[in-house]
Amino acid sequence: MNNFILLLGGNQNDVIATCKEAIKLLSHRLGQPVRSSAYYESEPWGFEASQNFINQVVEFTSSCKPLELLNITQAIEKELGRQTKTGTHYESRPIDIDILFINDQIIDLPRLTVPHPKLHERLFTLLPLLDHWGDLEHPLLKKTIKQLALICPDKGIVKPY
Ligand code: ADP
Ligand code: MG
Repeated sequence: MNNFILLLGGNQNDVIATCKEAIKLLSHRLGQPVRSSAYYESEPWGFEASQNFINQVVEFTSSCKPLELLNITQAIEKELGRQTKTGTHYESRPIDIDILFINDQIIDLPRLTVPHPKLHERLFTLLPLLDHWGDLEHPLLKKTIKQLALICPDKGIVKPY
């Protein structure tokens, strides 16, 4: 079995409704979530947008393989209305599903990097992780989520929604 920790987020339309729908679609393929964080709101990171981002961390346990999971999350992003990226920058989107951790595995493939390479740089990822996963150790950085949150250089405002 694999343990998957995912970050859901978006800043278009009704993000909470879209996150709930994403969890429903994920559950069809992975089974019910083990646990999930509260919703957190943050200002867009690195670009101007009319709507703030909302993020939530969700954990699943499943026999699904890592690249199968990526296929599933990308299909759900598409199904929920995500357009293919037009540029290399962050953009407004109805839903983004990032794979943060898969067990304590380190994966470095063209399509999939795990742990997610930016997770320790972003408070909008670390703060929801603190809800249940504060003592989880990053397998490459060898620091817990609590430690990473304390030293994170991101000064963006992230608050419970
Ligand atoms: P971002 O989340 O950085 O805004 P995208 O969601 O558009 O960007 O993802 C860009 C690419 O990142 C995807 O095509 C996917 O193959 C790749 N990718 C690599 N590692 C991961 C990961 N851990 N989770 C999600 N996507 C990943
Ligand atoms: Mg993504």
